[in-house]
Amino acid sequence: MIAYVLIVGVLLSQFVTRDKVIGMQVVDQRGVIVGTVKDIAFTVGREKIGLVVETKDKKEAHVQWTDVAAVGDLVLLRTHMPLAPPTLTIPSTAPPSTTSKVCPRCGFENLPIANFCRKCGAKLT
Ligand SMILES: [Zn+2]
Repeated sequence: MIAYVLIVGVLLSQFVTRDKVIGMQVVDQRGVIVGTVKDIAFTVGREKIGLVVETKDKKEAHVQWTDVAAVGDLVLLRTHMPLAPPTLTIPSTAPPSTTSKVCPRCGFENLPIANFCRKCGAKLT
């Protein structure tokens, strides 16, 4: 599917009309349909053009034109980042805490707000 899109895809340097793009399906790098193009957005004062994409859960997402790999029968993105489902954008596990206070005496990991070690009572710096 992706190979097909790349072959028939229109190079970005070529002209793509607004009417042609709107309503197109947007497919990410992995071949997953992320939504349909709702409108084209311009950033005033800059040469930035983006796509307003309505995702499957009826939310609006903005895709930079530079993230578009090809436009053919559908819009192919270079990345899956802009429209990744919320479940994927939120880390499933909390990042490792770098602020926990390790007791210099016994090595016990205390909470960042702790002033004294919960295990041995040593003062934490
Ligand atoms: Zn300790």
